[in-house]
Amino acid sequence: VIARLKNSGLLRSQGLIAGKWVDSHDRKTIKVCNPATGEVIVDIPCMGQKETNDAISSAYEAFYSWSKLTATERSKYLRKWYDLLIAHKEDLGQLITLEQGKPLKESLGEVSYGAGFIEFSAEEAKRIYGDIIPATLPDRRLFVLKQPVGVVGAITPWNFPLAMITRKVGPALACGCTVVIKPSELTPLTALAAAELSLQAGIPPGVVNVVMGNAADIGDALLASTQVRKITFTGSTAVGKKLMAGAAGTVKRVSLELGGNAPCIVFDDADLDVAVKGALAAKFRNSGQTCVCANRVLVQEGIYEKFANAFSKAVQNLQVGDGFTEGVAQGPLINEAAVQKVESFIKDAISKVCLLSYSVELVIADLEGAKVLLGGKRHSLGMTFYEPTVIGDVKSEMLLSREEVFGPVAPLLLFKTEEEAIRLANDTNAGLAAYIFTNSIQRSWRVSEALEYGLVGINEGIISTEVAPFGGVKQSGLGREGSKYGMDEYLE
Ligand code: ADP
Repeated sequence: VIARLKNSGLLRSQGLIAGKWVDSHDRKTIKVCNPATGEVIVDIPCMGQKETNDAISSAYEAFYSWSKLTATERSKYLRKWYDLLIAHKEDLGQLITLEQGKPLKESLGEVSYGAGFIEFSAEEAKRIYGDIIPATLPDRRLFVLKQPVGVVGAITPWNFPLAMITRKVGPALACGCTVVIKPSELTPLTALAAAELSLQAGIPPGVVNVVMGNAADIGDALLASTQVRKITFTGSTAVGKKLMAGAAGTVKRVSLELGGNAPCIVFDDADLDVAVKGALAAKFRNSGQTCVCANRVLVQEGIYEKFANAFSKAVQNLQVGDGFTEGVAQGPLINEAAVQKVESFIKDAISKVCLLSYSVELVIADLEGAKVLLGGKRHSLGMTFYEPTVIGDVKSEMLLSREEVFGPVAPLLLFKTEEEAIRLANDTNAGLAAYIFTNSIQRSWRVSEALEYGLVGINEGIISTEVAPFGGVKQSGLGREGSKYGMDEYLE
């Protein structure tokens, strides 16, 4: 695969600044590895403040002419970029599986989904309307013009190496902004390939820049610069808070897509097959490594046994392995730390005692331990493969309920009433995605409106699309991505 990708010209291993592929000034490098095999794919430059400042200057310079183009001209460039992303769908899909590990089928799905943001932005570029406000004096006219924010710093995670970039860069470019992208050092190659295709699409040098290496140094340089007018970030809540605080120094705009703790609520009146299929998709997509993955499966007492059995059976059928192997539904976790996190959460759940740190005082709760219904250990394939796992009798005090597990573990919690389900679901600082399964129309409206979440799927496990706004409430973030609402994030 690596040799084939090298031939395609899309396996890039340098940063992109002002339209030129460059190394770091001190020649330092980082290895990018295939998580399924441990094999080194390429070495990439370990960049820092200097390269970031160069990239900012390049984006600042390019902003002058890019923002002056007509909406139609920018739209055409984006359309061309979209066409190239789709024309190279197979190469990009392979690159995603190679560096991130997800099954090839999911990677190809990500290419369509990710490219969709560029297509949507190309179309929406032409619909950035202003406003005319009725005047307060007869000889005055009031106009509202929308203008691009300026240079945007885009910091992205490893779980969707293409889509997390395109859903920031698409609307930014459509609005007339230029960007400095910092992809995750774990998965920079898809970002570089997409950037190469942006050049092939004729997008002028400096409009799209990519730097990677020392995350904190790059982040600090982006935050410190008065030329960068906006930071858009997807990643952990902890880093998001640092960036938000850091943006205060220069009063930058921020958009944050942070961690979730998605409840997936299965009511007694749900269609069992629909609920199993939906919960499976919501939980096990990308081996549980998405911020909208179901983190807690809340099941009403009347359907609990039936659901637990049918769901465990469905999970048992998920084939684990290298994402390039036909039929595989679960790839490796991204790294060893991810596996250790999963292990520690499961250990916490099955031990009888939970340590709870409620603000100041430490409470020791003596709980009946949770039960492993399926999996619960590393997979015999070794590396970072983990068995798809179902844990029953999970309590709301356990780490599995309180924190984002980001792995292939489905904790089942039992509830009795609708009120209890809503209370449990909202009992978290996160508020990104939620899922409910019910055949009652009244309940679906009632519950989805009571849930403190940015997105609610009803009888549906896959809810992300470029045409709808995506984003969280509470500590899951600020701002929305995708749809016409996502454009506002890049406009003054
Ligand atoms: P995850 O747990 O998904 O890896 P992170 O928040 O650690 O979440 O990473 C998301 C992105 O943020 C990555 O590109 C990472 O390199 C970057 N990042 C991590 N720390 C910082 C920082 N201090 N400043 C800027 N970016 C950072």
